[in-house]
Amino acid sequence: MKLGIVGLPNVGKSTLFNAITNAGAESANYPFCTIEPNVGMVSVPDERLDKLAEMYEPDKKTPAVIEFVDIAGLVKGASKGEGLGNKFLANIRETDAIVHVVRCFDDENVIHVEGGADPARDIEIINMELVMADLEMVARRVDRATKAMKGDKKFAREVEVFTALQKHLDAGHVARTYDGTDEEMALIGTSELLTLKPTIYAANTDEDGFTHLEDSAYYKQVQEIAAKEGALVLPICAKMEQDIAELEGEDKEMFLEELGVTESGLDRLIKCSYDLLGLMSFLTYGKDECRAWTIKKGTKAPQAAGKIHSDIERGFIRAEIIAFTDLMACGTTTAAKEKGLLRSEGKEYIVKDGDMAYFRFNV
Ligand code: GDP
Repeated sequence: MKLGIVGLPNVGKSTLFNAITNAGAESANYPFCTIEPNVGMVSVPDERLDKLAEMYEPDKKTPAVIEFVDIAGLVKGASKGEGLGNKFLANIRETDAIVHVVRCFDDENVIHVEGGADPARDIEIINMELVMADLEMVARRVDRATKAMKGDKKFAREVEVFTALQKHLDAGHVARTYDGTDEEMALIGTSELLTLKPTIYAANTDEDGFTHLEDSAYYKQVQEIAAKEGALVLPICAKMEQDIAELEGEDKEMFLEELGVTESGLDRLIKCSYDLLGLMSFLTYGKDECRAWTIKKGTKAPQAAGKIHSDIERGFIRAEIIAFTDLMACGTTTAAKEKGLLRSEGKEYIVKDGDMAYFRFNV
């Protein structure tokens, strides 16, 4: 899974990205400091994997990972080649979802390219750039379908649907708010529109704003916009996350406790992304490796096995499954087996979150 971090310059993207990767990408007080897209990997926190590793003491513990891309260069006019131009658009196109960082803090020492903090205006600027890029794509699609229609009538529907979408975009709306039927949305989904991507608005507040969210007018603005679009909002204090990212174990727990939260903003961001994309994890276990794998909800056993290796999917015979909670209740896999909690599942089995799987396959 790949998430793209977008937002105007100086809203806290690099700060958030740094916290994510804890790797120290440049964070400087001027626009365009992040010139190349930075890519960072972060492991998905999973207590179940930790417990399994305690039990099996494997040689290797491998968590699921999410890839973050810090996408620079989005300014007013970017879709027309301003700033870093169209380059960033290609980077966004490759992501599964967008984390849109919105500046919800005041700081006169940190230049705001548009003057001062104004979340609604900032969101509008970025979304309009994305909408314009989408409009170009949709216009091309309508053109192509119109030509193709002369030879094949089935393209008439495509012309109809994309022309209607074009009107929606033209009115300044993002594609994800288009109220189409399932059939229309499926057709629209065949295009790689930027504003169709699932989006999380990360409201970057200062420390005070974070601890008094109910008083933050900026945060409320973001909430209202997200509610209209069916997007998610995540309040976060990127600066604080950077501090949290440097802590581990008990120190981290104490710091979070002082803030009155149970998990870091990053952990919440990761969980939020999982929800947004309808993802879940299953686990594999053994002496050599305990590992968490990411799949879409509703994935059947052979395709889940295919995440591990295409050979296992091809030669799939059956999956031996124990629910993680059953294992914990029984203490050991042997005890779980004796209680009949190790199940043999076939090709049609839909893997569940927290399933511990062992796949049998023909080589
Ligand atoms: P980017 O251009 O969006 O990547 O923004 P940066 O992450 O480089 O941040 C720009 C400046 O804003 C840096 O000096 C950060 O330290 C500062 N900054 C980021 N988050 C916060 C925050 O929550 N509060 C304050 N006061 N400053 C912040």
